Amino acid sequence: MTDIAWRWTWPEVGSELLVSQEVVDVLDSHRQRGSDVERGGQLFVNPVNCTGLLLARATPPHQADRGGRSWLELDARRCRQEIEGANAQGLRLVGYWHTHPQTVPVISPADVRSFSKFSARYMQDLPHPIAIIVGMSDKSEGIKAWSFRGGRYIEAVRVR
Ligand SMILES: [Zn+2]
Repeated sequence: MTDIAWRWTWPEVGSELLVSQEVVDVLDSHRQRGSDVERGGQLFVNPVNCTGLLLARATPPHQADRGGRSWLELDARRCRQEIEGANAQGLRLVGYWHTHPQTVPVISPADVRSFSKFSARYMQDLPHPIAIIVGMSDKSEGIKAWSFRGGRYIEAVRVR
């Protein structure tokens, strides 16, 4: 039985995502503090979970990633390897997460640009990719998610 930490819903498009405690633990343990650089990883869903689409895995930051205070490039090779490993276990890539040096994270124009590129690359398998941004606040608004749909990005509503 997977522990569910919370649900994210996008009421206007009728979509919902269950977020596993395992994913939240990874996000929670990589908040950007002080002079830390941005970090992040990939997100995978279990599409056959019986209680709904489940965000099952967030991969941790990797030493080959490159980043600064407000930019991040995940290493292409590690991304490919993680996708292969996850696919072999029946998990599917759904997007990526990264940190921001902000209390409450706000999606930036640079994020929108890199997400558009990401969506274009995975268009076929991944029509509605998800971006998670981890801010510094420990409160519920400290971790937010957006769904990218047809050139728009829609912020998720968190439900317990
Ligand atoms: Zn960002």
